[in-house]
Amino acid sequence: MKTRFKRAVVKIGSNVLAGADSGLDTAVMEGLADQVAALHHAGMEIILVSSGAVASGRSIVGTDKKLDQVSARQLYSSVGQARLINRYYELFSRHGIICGQVLTTKESLSTRDHYLNQMNCMNVMLDNGVIPVINENDTISVTELMFTDNDELSGMVASMMNAECLVILSNVDGIYDGNPQLPGSEVIREVRPEDNITSCIGTEKSTFGRGGMLTKYRIASKVADEGIEVVIANGKRPGILFSVLGGLPANDFSFTTFLPSDKPISHVKKWIAHSDGFAKGRININEGALKALTGERASSLLPVGVVSVEGDFEKGDIVRIISPLGRQIGIGKVSMNSTKAAETAGQKGGRPLIHYDYLYIE
Ligand code: GLU
Repeated sequence: MKTRFKRAVVKIGSNVLAGADSGLDTAVMEGLADQVAALHHAGMEIILVSSGAVASGRSIVGTDKKLDQVSARQLYSSVGQARLINRYYELFSRHGIICGQVLTTKESLSTRDHYLNQMNCMNVMLDNGVIPVINENDTISVTELMFTDNDELSGMVASMMNAECLVILSNVDGIYDGNPQLPGSEVIREVRPEDNITSCIGTEKSTFGRGGMLTKYRIASKVADEGIEVVIANGKRPGILFSVLGGLPANDFSFTTFLPSDKPISHVKKWIAHSDGFAKGRININEGALKALTGERASSLLPVGVVSVEGDFEKGDIVRIISPLGRQIGIGKVSMNSTKAAETAGQKGGRPLIHYDYLYIE
């Protein structure tokens, strides 16, 4: 089979894997593993981000004890993740392929060193023909340290691993141009980088997972902006990965493709773009700086453009950049600590507070 890309990340949502009794839908899982195996044998590197641990564990552990939300998630995921990876291992073995488990947390990606370490782990797996199967380590990542959902994690992984395509599989065909429940609503097939389709999107959450279409859209636009094609598709459709990644025609269904921006960004900028959740402070900027940073020419954030500084941060930390109207316009890595940044705020000259290479404008 011909493949459209060399490397792709495929995110499989809990709703794709959930069967009728909330256990794992073996047929769907097998179908997806068969397709990944065929694409792997055709020379593609595929990284899986698979949810389903909590949903799968919940269906096995019947407990009559009253559990708080965190304990329940820890208990269910500990059992469900073992079941999930066991199943993947067995399914890939049938094709002579080895898969390996990567359990991560938001914290494990929070500094550049952590990030590079995680990237190295997945590279060494791919270099040795092992398919990484990633999930958040739900047993130790609790509320405030959690990823919004695995959509966020998969966006980060696609960006980190320089994938050419990110496929987000859920149990709907894509983003519809109206309420998917209503006749006449159709799947939007193509979203260009300049399109904004927020008004088409419902705010319902997924039944088994934590995500929803809005986070999928947010992640998809951001990742496509970085020069990576993103597809939102229905993982329950037989042959879906062959259509998306192998280019085979999808006769009776559609999916939504976010076309990649033709101005891809550097690896460091990609890391910064996904570091929003780790920001240690805020830099309030003036109109002049706003103009410079959002203009056509590449500019760094200079002390003269800074109005004030909030939070305690060290040199090398990630901060949010806030416009005079209070809107976040970007994220960056600072070249000095918060005390020094506050001292130099508004002053002409001096080195940039955030160099262009470490600046991501949204
Ligand atoms: N990590 C969770 C699981 O495997 C799912 C998170 C999500 O819903 O995106 O169950």
